Amino acid sequence: MMHKEIAAGLNLPSLEKGWVWLVGAGPGDPGLITALGLQALAQADVILYDALVDEHLLTLSTAEKIYAGKRAGVRSCKQDEISETLVALAKEGKRVLRLKGGDPFVFGRGGEEAQALAHAGVPFRIVPGVTAGIGGLAYAGIPVTHRDTNHAVTFITGHGIDGKLTKMDWAAVSRGAPTLVLYMARRFAAEISQALLAAGRKPDEPVAIVANAARSDQQVIVTTLSDLAAAAENAPSLAIIVIGENVRLAEELSWLAKTRP
Ligand code: SAH
Repeated sequence: MMHKEIAAGLNLPSLEKGWVWLVGAGPGDPGLITALGLQALAQADVILYDALVDEHLLTLSTAEKIYAGKRAGVRSCKQDEISETLVALAKEGKRVLRLKGGDPFVFGRGGEEAQALAHAGVPFRIVPGVTAGIGGLAYAGIPVTHRDTNHAVTFITGHGIDGKLTKMDWAAVSRGAPTLVLYMARRFAAEISQALLAAGRKPDEPVAIVANAARSDQQVIVTTLSDLAAAAENAPSLAIIVIGENVRLAEELSWLAKTRP
């Protein structure tokens, strides 16, 4: 069956005029976008995309494209302005696609944008995406949970709005979280590893830095908690850090390199 026939068989809703769809594009590989995401790409009049969105995905759409990216430190676009633009475009009657890296509701401020739309009375749909802390790990051959290693997983952002290390009870996290998946944490790898070691985590606990996950330049650095700070210093900046026994599975399950020519 052709792709188009399959998509038609799904009876997907249409991106209507005056609506905003908040869509997750996944962590890199454009193939990870959902069917609803493709529908939005095909039907949008205008796309507001952020820095993490794969460029190839954007070239598939003829819509007007507006860059609405932010990078830690560089405030190229203020959050309020992005929300205001979304509201204004929808009120003009445009079909608006807000395309974000990973999942829009995972450390992506999608919640704030949705709140702005709700307050303005703009109808919207949330289209979840593959988040870097799950799908990105899968591209490194690391199951985010595994029966033999961890029955729980904790997602943490390394820094908050103020750009400083996230304030939290790291000792409690250390005791209660068998596997930690850290977003935006590379700059704070030294502080985080120190806090976890001080709280009793083992220095030889396995850690992976999954950089540029699901992209053509993916790099997986496997290290230990005691060596994390040094390893993070040399790693590319776009990275997920995963701490826990499940990291050991990467040795057996890494598959990406094997599928490349
Ligand atoms: N909403 C996104 C996360 C946005 S926060 C999601 O669900 O994936 C940005 C952080 O996500 C980055 O600092 C990095 O820690 C992580 N990240 C996003 N894409 C990534 C990728 N392809 N490889 C590694 N880390 C990634």
